[in-house]
Amino acid sequence: MPARYFRNRLPDYVPGTPVAVDVPHTLQTFSAVLREVLGASSRKPSVYTGAVGVAYALWHCARHVQQLAPAATEADLLGSAERYARAALEGIASQPPDHYGWSLLAGHAGVYATAALVFDAAAAAAERHGRGSAAEGLRVEREQCVQHYAALSSLAASSACQEDEVLYGRSGYLLGCLLLDRHLSAGSLRVTGDAMQMVVQAVIASGRRLAGRLRDRSTFPTPLFYMWPPGPDASPYLGAAHGLMGRRQAAAAPGCPSPLWFQWHGKPYLGAAHGMTGILFALLQLPEAVAAIPGAQADVEAALRYVLTLECDAEGLPGQGGHYPTQMGPWRDREPLVHWCHGATGAVFLFCQAAASLGPQAGAPYLAAAQRAGQSVWERGLLKKGPGCCHGVSGSVYALLRLHKATGDARWLHRALQFAAFMEGREFIEGARTPDHPLSLFEGGAARLCLLADLAGGPQSAAFPMFEVEF
Ligand SMILES: [Zn+2]
Repeated sequence: MPARYFRNRLPDYVPGTPVAVDVPHTLQTFSAVLREVLGASSRKPSVYTGAVGVAYALWHCARHVQQLAPAATEADLLGSAERYARAALEGIASQPPDHYGWSLLAGHAGVYATAALVFDAAAAAAERHGRGSAAEGLRVEREQCVQHYAALSSLAASSACQEDEVLYGRSGYLLGCLLLDRHLSAGSLRVTGDAMQMVVQAVIASGRRLAGRLRDRSTFPTPLFYMWPPGPDASPYLGAAHGLMGRRQAAAAPGCPSPLWFQWHGKPYLGAAHGMTGILFALLQLPEAVAAIPGAQADVEAALRYVLTLECDAEGLPGQGGHYPTQMGPWRDREPLVHWCHGATGAVFLFCQAAASLGPQAGAPYLAAAQRAGQSVWERGLLKKGPGCCHGVSGSVYALLRLHKATGDARWLHRALQFAAFMEGREFIEGARTPDHPLSLFEGGAARLCLLADLAGGPQSAAFPMFEVEF
């Protein structure tokens, strides 16, 4: 029995069969999950495992309020979202923003962005119900949140921010700017193009700096470098059994294979949470800001091609197996992960985005790669770590839904619905681990709540929480 995932024994798609969401059943499940999620603690403020992640989920669901009736009302969803958002705002009030304040998923930025979205939707609802003064008050609070969010851009662009990735760094901040831009009402404040440009500039400069440093062999002590074992416990051994002395024939020059290179905590991660996958996903959605930097568009496309060369099989060996290693360079995992944070699931989002951004001809190899990654998700994405979106089954479902949106192929919708239903079955309920934060957005039930609302609202409107911008 595989350790990380349930073996997929679900029936695959039979061509020609109609595929549709069972809305009444989805609403029933939604009601049950909503009751659980409303019991989530509001002690921690963050999007990833805290109160504002729950606020985000409730806002995300409120978008589909017509299709969710009678399982939930707009007043209930937005009222609870406000409560969680306010608790999170209080939670960060005494924390200095210079410690990851710019982080969308773990810091102040996520709290301000979500609170702005919640207050915006609540103001619109109040206006519709003739409560003009309440609407006005909410709009004032919304503007304050956007101002706070925008003010974090100078920290995000500065050297105080050492991270370029999505979870703690600049790319997450940029995705937050895009979410606000796309989903706040007309007339609301926005983060200015200049502020976003400054952060994009910092990401590109950082990626070029690190790639340049790696290209300069004089800073690297040896032209050959090895680690053992090939996995998270790797150590740079010297001895003949595991180290450099015993492997003189192998070649792994330390030059840099990509014009942009990123690290998190000293490691060149590849995945959507901490690595190149998430960074390129954000940059591809800021084409004007990238185009304004000479040569940056070419660098982004070359980095994208490099990511494609890292494709491997389920044993971590090079080949078109739809899997991706956790780290860039000559790194090999013995068994690549199939998570949003690390591995094929995150790659689906990047490659679908690349296909959309580059157009039918240049994008075709990426759409094909996205589908190979989707096949890996179908085979190994019934994760035992719970229902969350970071390394849980809801994340896998969102990847399958993204493929459905990108290709129009009913196969991916069928697979997504099979995975979503698997979370209701005995095998998952009895066999999945309970995450540390079982009701949270990235580890637990709040992700599943978003997913059920998206299924009821129509799979075309599905969006991986706080990551996919267009929905
Ligand atoms: Zn994860």
